Amino acid sequence: MKYKRILLKLSGEALAGENQTGIDAQRLEQYAQEIEKVVQEGIEVAIVIGGGNIFRGVETVGTGIDRVQGDYMGMLATVINGMALQSSLESHGLFTRLMSGIKMEQVCEPFIKRRAVRHLEKGRVVIFGAGIGSPYFTTDSAASLRAIEIEADVVLKGTKVDGVYTADPETDLNATRFSNISFEEVYSKGLNVMDMTAFTLCKENGLPIIVFDMNTPGNLLKVVKGEEVGTLISVD
Ligand code: UDP
Repeated sequence: MKYKRILLKLSGEALAGENQTGIDAQRLEQYAQEIEKVVQEGIEVAIVIGGGNIFRGVETVGTGIDRVQGDYMGMLATVINGMALQSSLESHGLFTRLMSGIKMEQVCEPFIKRRAVRHLEKGRVVIFGAGIGSPYFTTDSAASLRAIEIEADVVLKGTKVDGVYTADPETDLNATRFSNISFEEVYSKGLNVMDMTAFTLCKENGLPIIVFDMNTPGNLLKVVKGEEVGTLISVD
């Protein structure tokens, strides 16, 4: 295995499956199966999940809901997704902990770095909910920050696209995929990997990112083994 401790970032939108919103049971089950495969190999797995399938702070524009309020609503949405994922993983017999950036003792633990690391060392899958607990951030930023805090080896951004392309592959037929690219090149080419806050955090801390297609069964395990799947973004 190339990586021992991973931070897997899953978007909320992906959890909606073919639907625009909500949680798709099949997709949830598929993700649990993928995660189970890597846990069985002894990999320490931390997960940050988004909330876009339920609510995004930016969507409050023109609704009469204040932006900051909306962001907190988005953070709560990530906790809902985290709870769903936690249950699904537990139905596979995995041990899990949901840790939140916003205190809500009845449903999850508060995020405490040392506790998170201890859970991982004990083989528990740790899900980080509520982003970083502050408005005006995204769950990509939470993924980068938590990954640095728990000293993960890599951030794995599981998406529906199989990597970083020269242009948007959905609109440009000539777009080609990078298998490796440096942080600097991503900046200079203006490519969209994560939002800039999240991306810069990884760059400044030398934390590699792999963007890969999470919807292809077996891909997560391949990535962890170091097989050439998706796009690796690193210092060199
Ligand atoms: N959010 C926030 N601070 C954080 C993480 C998330 O305010 O640290 C809010 C923000 O409104 C965001 C929403 O939660 O739009 C859902 O997260 P995100 O959009 O990152 O989810 P994804 O796009 O991955 O589904």
